[in-house]
Amino acid sequence: MNDRVETALKPSADLATDFDAIIIGAGVSGLYQLYRLRELGLTARVFEAGSGVGGTWYWNRYPGARFDSESWTYGYSFSQELLDEWDWEEHFAGQPETERYLNHVADKFDLRRDIQFKTTVTAAHYQEDRRSWQVTLDNGTLCTARFLITAVGVLSASVLPRIPGIESFRGKSCHTHNWPKEPVRFAGKRVAVIGTGATGIQAITEIAKTAGHLTVFQRTAQWSAPLHNSKVTSDEMREIRRNYTDIFARCQETVGCFIHTADPRSVFEVTAEEREAFWEKRYGEPGFGIWMGNFRDVLLDREANKLMSDWLAGKIRARVNDPAVAEKLVPKTHGFGTRRVPLESGYFEVYNQPNVKLVDLTETPIERITPDGIRTAGADYQFDMIIYATGFDAITGAFDQIDIRGTGGVSLKDKWAGGPVTLLGILVDGFPNFMMVMGPHAGLGNFPRAVEYTSDWVTALIRHAHDNGMTRVEATPESAKAWTDHVIETNEGLLFTEVDSWMTGINRNLEGKQVRRVMRYSGGHPAFRQHCDALLAGGYQELSMA
Ligand SMILES: Cc1cc2nc3c(=O)[nH]c(=O)nc-3n(C[C@H](O)[C@H](O)[C@H](O)COP(=O)(O)OP(=O)(O)OC[C@H]3O[C@@H](n4cnc5c(N)ncnc54)[C@H](O)[C@@H]3O)c2cc1C
Repeated sequence: MNDRVETALKPSADLATDFDAIIIGAGVSGLYQLYRLRELGLTARVFEAGSGVGGTWYWNRYPGARFDSESWTYGYSFSQELLDEWDWEEHFAGQPETERYLNHVADKFDLRRDIQFKTTVTAAHYQEDRRSWQVTLDNGTLCTARFLITAVGVLSASVLPRIPGIESFRGKSCHTHNWPKEPVRFAGKRVAVIGTGATGIQAITEIAKTAGHLTVFQRTAQWSAPLHNSKVTSDEMREIRRNYTDIFARCQETVGCFIHTADPRSVFEVTAEEREAFWEKRYGEPGFGIWMGNFRDVLLDREANKLMSDWLAGKIRARVNDPAVAEKLVPKTHGFGTRRVPLESGYFEVYNQPNVKLVDLTETPIERITPDGIRTAGADYQFDMIIYATGFDAITGAFDQIDIRGTGGVSLKDKWAGGPVTLLGILVDGFPNFMMVMGPHAGLGNFPRAVEYTSDWVTALIRHAHDNGMTRVEATPESAKAWTDHVIETNEGLLFTEVDSWMTGINRNLEGKQVRRVMRYSGGHPAFRQHCDALLAGGYQELSMA
């Protein structure tokens, strides 16, 4: 393989169709995976549907799109030079800054020459006789590669709501994920936003600043808490740079790879005054501390969770002038932290503005989109613009959009119909030489921290196969079952598993996504890495290799 370094460093011939590896997706995961495979001297080609790099940070250009991760914990850690030269502007970078960062990475490491943009992979079929994958592109081209690596994203397949008449609307409409590159102006416009998840909350706060009138259609109220974003001063950046080693080490120790870690105390070990003082402090601090750094039992114990939820409801009520509107904004169907906590920057105060109206869809559901706007059970609304902040077919959605077939022509979508079956969220039995970076059963959290580890693990496996002259690498049915059972077990007892959300595989806008499934590993990243390290140290005995 090393004798191919030379070849890999030369510009790829655009017409080449046979590669050592094909990577699908040029987001945080795909870029890093390409970098690592190049180091091995492999010929690799990335296919990316968008016209630029960045994935999430390329597509989601909606106003207000930004991190809930501290920027300086999100950047790649693998290159000291990169850490030394990149200054983060904001503690929680907005989409344009992160897109700039990922473009900088692509340029710095000369990644673009192996990325084919505006190209969607429509099918990937394993060919037993050649021990390779045949990949079909949307322009009809067929390519082949020994290894197929998906870096397709857990939140990349956008979903429109199932509402009749969507196509009849005469104004402008757009999903937040597919936001146009040209600036969109709201001044003087009657704007509707459907959806109040993490994206909706960011977009609504920003759009309300300039819209002539904004109507928000809410199905599920959210336990949103303040982000407290600010600029990174040059002194702070110097300090961050000095501490990068410690920052990344801390992220590796925590369950979600964030800098925040749960307080070891139980809610019930402290007095009511101490408890509230602690929550007040967390509420006043930047980032996910209120979610990830709360008392240890808030996400586990129903009573502890209720205390926290009641306290946070008080915060919402205090920030919204009209008590009837405030009541609609207090979640009633789930406890704090059992869905992804959206962080906000003045969201609740938006509803004190005269140009903003909240429509509660549990009271008056949408009946249809009309040529002029939206008809609910209660009223007809006229709009110039409808924005769909209706999220994603999460985690498995991007996989389902590709016709992926393993040995015997078995389709991955069919194999996962009852829920994903994986080994470590990376391998699937019956799908040789197929590896997923951040697939189902991976741990969610601060992404790049997990991406770097997982891509390194994938790279090590490919290197091992090559060094040992093996051309077929696969999880065994037993090892995939054992890991899947373990993933299911670690979910048990966690309050989030009792709630419908994309984290439990539910999407009311999609057929076949109405039954809860275990989609992610909840054992925490340190435990995940232990499992992966053990498999590697044991010489990959849980895999079938030939
Ligand atoms: C609005 C929003 C905010 C977020 N905030 C945070 C945050 O604060 N912290 C955090 O850690 N994570 C956050 N995330 C999660 C985010 O997705 C990850 O941080 C990270 O960007 C994922 O990188 P990825 O490369 O794995 O996937 P993505 O960035 O989703 O990239 C996948 C790429 O694959 C391409 N692709 C998919 N299928 C195909 C196909 N068939 N053919 C060709 N190309 C294909 C897509 O076009 C896409 O560009 C956020 C997500 C969203 C949507």
